[in-house]
Amino acid sequence: MTTVVWFKRDLRTRDHAPLAAAARLGEPVIPLYVVEDDYWQLPDTSERQWAFVQDSLKDLDGQLRRAGNRLVVRKGLVTDVLRQLKASHDLQRVFCHQETGGQWTFERDRAVIGWCSENNVEFREWNQFGVVRRLRNRDVWDGAWTELMRQPVQAAPASIPATNLAPINHPDDMSPEFSRRDTCPDRQAGGSARGDRLLASFLERRCIGYQYNISSPLTAVKACSRLSPHIAWGTVSMREIYQWSKATSEHRNTLPRKKKSLTSFRSRLHWHCHFIQKLEDEPELEFRAMHRELEGLKSGPNDSDRLQRWQEGQTGWPLVDASMRALHHTGWINFRMRAMLMAVASYQLWLHWRDPALHLARMFTDFEPGIHYSQAQMQSGLTGINALRIYNPVLQSQKLDPDGEFIRRWIPELAGVPAEMIHTPWLMTPAQKSRFGGNTYIAPVCDHEQAARSARKAVGDFRQRHVSREETERVLERHGSRREPVQKRPKPPGKQPWKSNDDQLSLFD
Ligand SMILES: Cc1cc2nc3c(=O)[nH]c(=O)nc-3n(C[C@H](O)[C@H](O)[C@H](O)COP(=O)(O)OP(=O)(O)OC[C@H]3O[C@@H](n4cnc5c(N)ncnc54)[C@H](O)[C@@H]3O)c2cc1C
Repeated sequence: MTTVVWFKRDLRTRDHAPLAAAARLGEPVIPLYVVEDDYWQLPDTSERQWAFVQDSLKDLDGQLRRAGNRLVVRKGLVTDVLRQLKASHDLQRVFCHQETGGQWTFERDRAVIGWCSENNVEFREWNQFGVVRRLRNRDVWDGAWTELMRQPVQAAPASIPATNLAPINHPDDMSPEFSRRDTCPDRQAGGSARGDRLLASFLERRCIGYQYNISSPLTAVKACSRLSPHIAWGTVSMREIYQWSKATSEHRNTLPRKKKSLTSFRSRLHWHCHFIQKLEDEPELEFRAMHRELEGLKSGPNDSDRLQRWQEGQTGWPLVDASMRALHHTGWINFRMRAMLMAVASYQLWLHWRDPALHLARMFTDFEPGIHYSQAQMQSGLTGINALRIYNPVLQSQKLDPDGEFIRRWIPELAGVPAEMIHTPWLMTPAQKSRFGGNTYIAPVCDHEQAARSARKAVGDFRQRHVSREETERVLERHGSRREPVQKRPKPPGKQPWKSNDDQLSLFD
């Protein structure tokens, strides 16, 4: 009797409940990863994400070998692959982790569950994140999250009985076709070994001062844990990250300031699941505004020139362009810059949220649908329960990159421009341009201050006319954070934009 352990976004052997359960049965196990061509054609997936997965599959194969098994990589539809395995092996069970993805993976999972049921194959799913399926009451969510994080971390199985299945297909021979070419020269490498090293260096040294250093794109590169692609693709278990971090905090030699940093870090782990829960509860968020009445805020097609300039890091606002170019090159940018990129697209450039969200998704090696679509909407003012955050790209630049170091690194056109002019190069005189360079850097798309004022007014007017208190309360009830008891939360003041008690607001100053 054979068990397939189907790997998806859980590319590790440690703290892997489906694998541990399969190994405990003492019967043959097929550890399976299926390269699904159609998935890699979706508009939010990309070659850089696949490259991270490829690294991780090789590492996973190494982990499985140590337990006497091998990773089986196949290409095609999961149901077809299972059908073939059923024909060649006595396939009785499919074990896997629950996934909260977009519509495509949801339907794929339904097809697999349907196939299993029709073919008398047991299908069992485990939860790897604090995301609750069919959650009836958001008030109990926090408790469920903490309970899951505190459950014991399971060791990687020492021995996993293998089948005679051969040969193993190598991930390099199985790459999907990509319609868009995408090079990412400084992409983070995948695999559990790399994830473990990142976690260790973060907990040992890098976490100190975390909460102060994560906003500037200069300091964030080292101050942030950089674990996001490892969490997104499951090469490191979130429970293990949580427990190591807690153990480090509670160690008697840990200094109070380090403890504070780690508390702040763990609150982000909580946000991770808090945001994914939103998509789990309302899958339509992939396509439609969280606050349904705000869907009509923008109509008509996006201005393609503006969209293209934003995508290419050619808006003429240096911090915006430097952030986009850094993201293209590395596959990662810190939270504050992600928020600014999305907000500038939605407000100053007045683009509909979805095209910019899809571009960012493709550029993120750590693309996680639940966080991404919820955050993209939140930064675009579409939740109706969060304060509008319209970033001033010049003030952000002066504050977070005062010497222009980050800008110079990513915008060679401004390499010779001194700090006092680098945030507003359009104000340089011809004489200053000929002395310091900057002639080749593009002029701004528009006057950002005026565009921000128009956007604020347009959103305010739209809310006055179209937003009802009932829909705002529905969003709050369904998706609002419950860090404080529900009865203490403020009442929505009629049709005005208002703040929820979402933890997210603490990120801003
Ligand atoms: C528009 C937008 C899109 C985003 N898209 C993604 C995405 O696709 N995938 C993704 O992992 N994160 C996303 N984020 C959240 C956040 O920016 C990243 O998680 C973070 O920058 C990853 O770097 P890190 O692992 O070094 O973070 P750290 O600061 O070290 O945080 C540790 C972990 O906590 C979680 N986390 C941190 N910040 C947040 C947050 N604000 N919301 C939810 N979870 C958080 C992540 O799992 C992260 O890996 C997005 C934010 C915005 C504004």
